[in-house]
Amino acid sequence: NDANDLAAVQSQPAFGFDVQRWRADFPILQQTVHGKPLVYLDNAATSQKPHSVIDCERRYYSELNANIHRSVHELGERATAAFEGARMKVRRFINAGDNREIVFVRGTTEAINLVAQSYGRNLFQVGDEILLTEMEHHSNIVPWQLLREQTGAVLRVAPINDAGELMLDEFEKCLNPRTKLVAVAHVSNALGSVNPIHRIIELAHAMGAVVLVDGAQAVPHMAVNVQDLDCDFYAFSGHKLYGPTGIGVLYGKAELLDAMPPYQGGGDMISQVTFKQTLYNVLPYKFEAGTSNIAGVIGLGTALDYVQALGLDSIAAHEHDLLAYATRLAHDVPGMRLIGTAQDKAGILSFTLDGVHPHDIGTILDREGVAIRAGHHCAMPVMEHFQIAATARASFALYNTRDEIDALFAGIDKVIDMFG
Ligand code: PLP
Repeated sequence: NDANDLAAVQSQPAFGFDVQRWRADFPILQQTVHGKPLVYLDNAATSQKPHSVIDCERRYYSELNANIHRSVHELGERATAAFEGARMKVRRFINAGDNREIVFVRGTTEAINLVAQSYGRNLFQVGDEILLTEMEHHSNIVPWQLLREQTGAVLRVAPINDAGELMLDEFEKCLNPRTKLVAVAHVSNALGSVNPIHRIIELAHAMGAVVLVDGAQAVPHMAVNVQDLDCDFYAFSGHKLYGPTGIGVLYGKAELLDAMPPYQGGGDMISQVTFKQTLYNVLPYKFEAGTSNIAGVIGLGTALDYVQALGLDSIAAHEHDLLAYATRLAHDVPGMRLIGTAQDKAGILSFTLDGVHPHDIGTILDREGVAIRAGHHCAMPVMEHFQIAATARASFALYNTRDEIDALFAGIDKVIDMFG
């Protein structure tokens, strides 16, 4: 029976993935919270950092710290080499064709705002259409609303179904010759749904639209190949990918980035300044005004080394195993409703419990040492679709275990006992 099946596989590492070994790399996980071992299941908000990333930042500031580019001294040259080395690692990580296509930004939010303001603001006219989906994060909605106010562009929204999947036929119907840009999540942060991104890009391109993919929730969970996807822009954040906060990446096709004006003005994005006229720097520096988050960039490179050493396919298999295990346990909990039951899902279990506010679920679980997130997850239109104010969301990372999922469900049983 199911219970025996579950017990039998309970503590087996999935697919030879030695999760205990990788867990040991994350110092923050070794602590107790409210007297209980920390069970960190808020990875979609931000993931924890391995020793190598923490050490990398410490080493940068204790051995290497200097400003980059055009430096004449040794430290500056070393810092520049490390910084540009990290850019190369990012290029390889997403299989971009050229280092010039990798722009360092603060995170996904800034990457999307950069495209909206530099690409959209200069090219879009009244009546031009931007197509989004109902499952977008606010960071992939609000920049386009700002652009709508500035240009008179029109926002269209492709709907999701009650499983939390994009309705591809409806998406296709929303596309038309006025569609200039499609901005779509690769993976939904509120639901875990994985979008059929290849097909979305194909359909958009057939209509002549460029495509920006919000990859914030995809890159930690699956290998991404931007040349294979043929997306025009791809945005992601370092901090959800075991890297530092305050650093992210905008990938853009070189011919598009080349034609776009700078997003911000200042040092590093110029080649020559006079009061009459300023000549801009070449790609990607044209988009990197001011002193970058140098330690963050180098730390991100180290985070990429870390996940690549484990292998994204192994990480994905491990997380799928956790998600399948949690989903099966969820089916046996009375009054538990899963929000987001897409066929293709990554790393996220969003749910409600009858008669209990998600914030109460989060607070009671916290007393058990289990960290989840409760709220609208910056995806209020998703909440509106399901006619709920909030969900409780457990989200998984490479270091989570089945025992931790058991702790989550033991906590949920307590919640039900208290409110039942
Ligand atoms: N897009 C998605 C799908 C996200 O999940 C997030 C973060 O939660 C963002 C964008 C924004 O990322 P950041 O806050 O790192 O800019």
